[in-house]
Amino acid sequence: MIALSRAAGRDRCPTCRKAVARKQPFFPFCSERCRLVDLGKWLGEEYRVPLKAGPEPESDSDEDTED
Ligand SMILES: [Zn+2]
Repeated sequence: MIALSRAAGRDRCPTCRKAVARKQPFFPFCSERCRLVDLGKWLGEEYRVPLKAGPEPESDSDEDTED
């Protein structure tokens, strides 16, 4: 197979800057840990987004339901 381009095959893990192949299961991260670290940043204080209360589920499992 011909090498498509030098840039096509590899990227860098956003967390640790390690080169990571695109076929990695955790791409663009080099590992699950790095993926979780990045996710933690989003969920953590660095990119804190106020979580609004989601749409409340309609009371579909209330005691009112009688079959
Ligand atoms: Zn990494």
